[in-house]
Amino acid sequence: MFEKRLPLNAQCAIPILGLGTWQIADGEGCYQSVRDALEVGYRHIDTAQGYQNEASVGRAIKDSNIPREEIFVTTKLESHIKTYDGAHAAFNKSLQQLDMAYVDLFIIHAPWPWSDMGSDHKKGNIEAWKAMEEIYESGRAKAIGVSNFSPDDIQNLLDHTRIKPMANQISLFVGNPQTETLEYCALKEILIIAYSPLAIGYALNDPFIVKMAQKYKVTPAQLLIRYTIEKGAATLPKTTKKERMIENAQVDFSLEKEDFKTLDAYRNDPRRWE
Ligand code: NAP
Repeated sequence: MFEKRLPLNAQCAIPILGLGTWQIADGEGCYQSVRDALEVGYRHIDTAQGYQNEASVGRAIKDSNIPREEIFVTTKLESHIKTYDGAHAAFNKSLQQLDMAYVDLFIIHAPWPWSDMGSDHKKGNIEAWKAMEEIYESGRAKAIGVSNFSPDDIQNLLDHTRIKPMANQISLFVGNPQTETLEYCALKEILIIAYSPLAIGYALNDPFIVKMAQKYKVTPAQLLIRYTIEKGAATLPKTTKKERMIENAQVDFSLEKEDFKTLDAYRNDPRRWE
C-alpha cells in the first residue's frame, strides 16, 4: 500500500496511506513514532501547527536519511488564523519548525476556529487562501487544500479566489460516510483525505465490524481503513505502535460490493460511536 498514490495536481501525488500524528506530543514519542513509520515503509506524514509536534516530525524525517522528495509531508494552518499576513507568518514558522524548504501539502485546518465551531469566517478564509495561493506559487507548498470544509465553505473560495483547493481533509469512517461532501468534491475534482478512519478507535470493537473483519480474515482496523480507501480517499490512521503501523498498512484486499454498501449505510451517525 505504501507505493500507491492519488494525484493532487499536475506535479504532485499523495501516498494513499499516511501516518496521523494528532495527540502525539512533541518530543521523543513523536520522534520515535515517525522514525518507526518511515522504517516500516510509510512515506506520508500528517502533522499540523495545532498539534505542536512539527519539530519532532521534521527531526525524525531528517534523521531517517530518506531523501526529502520521497516523503510527503502535510501541515495545517491553525484554525483561528484567518488573515493574509497571519497565514504567511504561520507558514514561515511551520517551515522553521519542520526545518524544511517546502511542505508537500499545506491546508487550512478548519473553516472556523475550534473554539467557535460553525461560526462564519467566509471573509477570513478568502484572506488566508490568498496567502496560500502565493505560498503554492512560490513552490514552498507543492499543493494547497482545506480541511473540515463543507461544500458551502469550498464554494466560497471557488467564487472569490484564483486557485481551487486540491484536497479536503475530512473525518471519514464507517458511520460517517460524508456523502454530500464527497459528491461535491468529486464534482469539483478535489481529493478527499480521510481523517479518523478508525473513528478515533471507537469503531474497533463494534461486533458488526469485528464479524465482517473475520469474514475477510483481516483485523477491524484493516477493514475500517480499507473502507476509507474504497471511498476514493487517501487515509490517515494514527498509531504510536510499530506493530499497528504494519497492520494498518496491510490493506491490499477488496470489499465485496454488497459489504461496501452495508458499511456505507451502517450507523450513519458518528455520535453513536461515543
Ligand atoms: P484514528 O486514526 O481514527 O484512531 C486512532 C486510535 O486508534 C488511537 O487510539 C490508536 O491507538 C488506535 N489504533 C490505531 N491503529 C490501531 C490498530 N491497528 N488496532 C487497534 N487500535 C489502533 O484517529 P485520529 O488520530 O483522530 O485520526 C487520524 C489522523 O487524522 C490524526 O492523527 C490526524 O493526523 C488527522 N486528523 C485530522 C483532523 C483535522 O481536523 N484535519 C482531525 C482529527 C484527525 P494507539 O496510538 O495506541 O495505537
